[in-house]
Amino acid sequence: MGSEAIKKLEDLYTANTYARYDVVLAEGSGSRAKDPEGREYIDFTSGIGVNSLGFCDPGWVAAVQAQAGILQHASNLFYSDPCARAAEKLVMLTGMSSVFFANSGAEANEGAIKAARKHSFMKYGQEAGDGFDRYRIVTLAGSFHGRTIATITATGQSGFHKYFTPFLQGFDYAETNDAASLKATVTDKTCAIMIEFVQGEGGVIELDAGFVGEIVGLCKERDILLIADEVQTGIGRTGKFMAYDHFGVRPDIVTVAKGMGGGLPAGGVIFGEKTKDALGQGDHGSTYGGNPVVCAGVDYVLSKFLDGNGEPDRGFLGNISKKGKYFREKLLAIPGVKGVSGLGLMLGVDIGDIDAKAVCKEAASRGLLLLTAKSKIRLLPPLNIEHPDIDEGLEILAESIAAV
Ligand SMILES: *Cc1c(COP(=O)(O)O)cnc(C)c1O
Repeated sequence: MGSEAIKKLEDLYTANTYARYDVVLAEGSGSRAKDPEGREYIDFTSGIGVNSLGFCDPGWVAAVQAQAGILQHASNLFYSDPCARAAEKLVMLTGMSSVFFANSGAEANEGAIKAARKHSFMKYGQEAGDGFDRYRIVTLAGSFHGRTIATITATGQSGFHKYFTPFLQGFDYAETNDAASLKATVTDKTCAIMIEFVQGEGGVIELDAGFVGEIVGLCKERDILLIADEVQTGIGRTGKFMAYDHFGVRPDIVTVAKGMGGGLPAGGVIFGEKTKDALGQGDHGSTYGGNPVVCAGVDYVLSKFLDGNGEPDRGFLGNISKKGKYFREKLLAIPGVKGVSGLGLMLGVDIGDIDAKAVCKEAASRGLLLLTAKSKIRLLPPLNIEHPDIDEGLEILAESIAAV
């Protein structure tokens, strides 16, 4: 089908929940994609941080295709090889204890919320009796944790809180990078604090090191669990394997998704020493979670972060940081760019009063795919993007800003 026919059918037959660009993607390779008519686009989006190795990385395709022809699904009633390998790598790369595989970021966060509540109940529930109320979770203003009822409640943005009441109980919101607000929000009923170390959807906003220190201190002092939502920031995106590695922090629970599967729907709740036994048999589950084809993709993506001996390979991460710095320098030289936020290849471009959505639309018409985050342009290019693609894309971005 041609672009016009595809757009017409999707508009007719899919639920109208997305404001879409006027772009149809038919195929891709590396950091470039084409529409059905063969028009080419440079990709600074990775499908919202998902295609971490770009479109159709040959090694990734081979791993996924092979697994699809061997055993496509088993369910968690049975053991399977890709799940075992992916889990081992994830635990090795994080130094955590175990992982529960889910299918998406929101689902991973649901698992984390359940685990935090149960951990608190097992530790403090008996003494409190029926009046157990140490189940509250503190999240931050501007955060984004997903689209399910629990995770929109966790999301600290009132825009997501319209229409869908009644919400789940038990969430409190502190101001981001505001220690006084945090201290006023945490109470003796708080069981966990859930944070993004770099807020993605909220505008690519990094937490201050001092604020993170306050969070860690409070968690320690009051036996509160720290949940890191690394759904967008994790798996190398920021130039460290996890964004918390920039802050020297060890969370109790880490959630991942987006970039982990390299393009297949994969999520994970990763448990540390303290929380690894929080969820027991029958407490949680997922029919698709740990699916062999998906885990073959996960295993391949994770293998990029390990060297031939199975040890963490700093080279891959180092290149992500270097490319991030290169992006930043070049972005700051573009007229109209007021500042650049973010870490590694997760970048927020502040263009002041210029309309970011209009720039994205203009860029799409000129052959560059971009994202927004609040009033900023957000860049989440493939982690292995090559310099010619970066340069050409940034030229189109400069032209697009100038045109708007
Ligand atoms: C995208 C995102 C989610 C939700 O992930 P889905 O896979 O869309 O459910 C949760 N948290 C953060 C930080 C995200 O960026």
